[in-house]
Amino acid sequence: MAEPLGRLLTDLGERTDYDAVSQCSRCGYCEQACPTYVATGREAYSPRGRNQLLRLMLEGKLDDPSVAEEALSTCLLCGACTTACYAKVAVPDLVLEGRRALRRRPHWLLRRVSRLLIEDPKALSRLLKLGFLLKRLGLSRLGRPLLRAAGLSPLAAMDEHVDEAPRRLLDDELPALRAEGEGDAWAYFAPCGPRYLLPRVGTATWRVLTALKGRGRFLENHCCGLLAHNYGELADARELAKINIANAEADGDAPIVADCSSCAAFLKTYPQLFLLPSDAPWRPRAEAFAARVRDASELIGEEADALPALQDAGTTCHHDSCRALNGLGLREEPRRAARAIAGESCKEMPGADACCGGAGAFAFVHEDLSDELLRRKTAGAAQAQARTVTATSTSCLIQLARGFRKYYPEARVLHLSELAAEALDNRHGTQTRA
Ligand code: SF4
Ligand code: SF4
Repeated sequence: MAEPLGRLLTDLGERTDYDAVSQCSRCGYCEQACPTYVATGREAYSPRGRNQLLRLMLEGKLDDPSVAEEALSTCLLCGACTTACYAKVAVPDLVLEGRRALRRRPHWLLRRVSRLLIEDPKALSRLLKLGFLLKRLGLSRLGRPLLRAAGLSPLAAMDEHVDEAPRRLLDDELPALRAEGEGDAWAYFAPCGPRYLLPRVGTATWRVLTALKGRGRFLENHCCGLLAHNYGELADARELAKINIANAEADGDAPIVADCSSCAAFLKTYPQLFLLPSDAPWRPRAEAFAARVRDASELIGEEADALPALQDAGTTCHHDSCRALNGLGLREEPRRAARAIAGESCKEMPGADACCGGAGAFAFVHEDLSDELLRRKTAGAAQAQARTVTATSTSCLIQLARGFRKYYPEARVLHLSELAAEALDNRHGTQTRA
């Protein structure tokens, strides 16, 4: 079994899991904010239901743990419930604690990837390049039945959902970006999404931050540890956090900017990884690190007045990535940037703040429920007649790209950095997008 943290940092301070879940008064005020409850109408798929099951588990009163397993595994960890809840009950953290208490160790392949991210990221890059080559040759689909037979259905689903197979990863682009000059204005933390799957996003963020904030530099970071954290490998998550904290300390004190909101929000929670007495020296270091972390959309929104308008932008809407909205409280900042670029063509789409069903690996594990959320999300975009939808998390970018291909091909999805880069390119008459 994976080991739970046992204690959480909540809005009321440090609490045991039991005290944290006991903050839920079962009022049900959060129910309509919960995408899985709204989609299914099932109490067990609601924040209140999940809290109740976890409380029973902690009290040792749950005869059949599989009831809790299903309810906890279908949580998107979107945090919409915590945003709606007057007591700010930390439902996503509690759900993760419940999963850790219930779950067997993750699949060996996931554990291997988690270790590669720590020990040899370059080997992971090589493996991914091979995978992308097979995908471009149309061969990866032949391997899907094998993956399913080996108990790796989520990987087969991932191959099916992810359309892009870049030839070059972000690390291949960095030498050229660095050659243009580095500075102290910001330190770019390359999240795994832009680094390995969507390098065009990382390139756009670098160029936009340079244009808006002056020259910055690459932090030489490892994975933030979110994957390990969410799949029960807390020791790996702590190891990665320590590497990143030490690197950032050696780097100076510039703001640390990440362009995947899930990653940025997780970096902000590093102090929670160090609540054990044996980790006491790391706690203030994690707090200092977290205080420096900014989401790229926050910085771009701050400089919205410097963004040029994009001619003929077409109807542009912003989709709130869950961890940006509910984890970092960023609602206005990305919209300010989108409005500066698209002007009157920038519109609010119905359900902009609802989860798209991406949620990390959720889309690959709970395909039907994820697809229902995606269908609702793309219906909102269609109702607004969107042509461009911006988002700020890798998972949303992959999920919305699939959703638009399937349900609403009139729209495209871009990271907010990419839209800003397009506007800047348009003004300069250049082209920076890959
Ligand atoms: S999580 Fe908050 S809003 Fe939801 S039932 Fe519990 S106390 Fe009420
Ligand atoms: S985190 Fe999201 S899916 Fe999970 S209970 Fe809260 S609102 Fe529902």
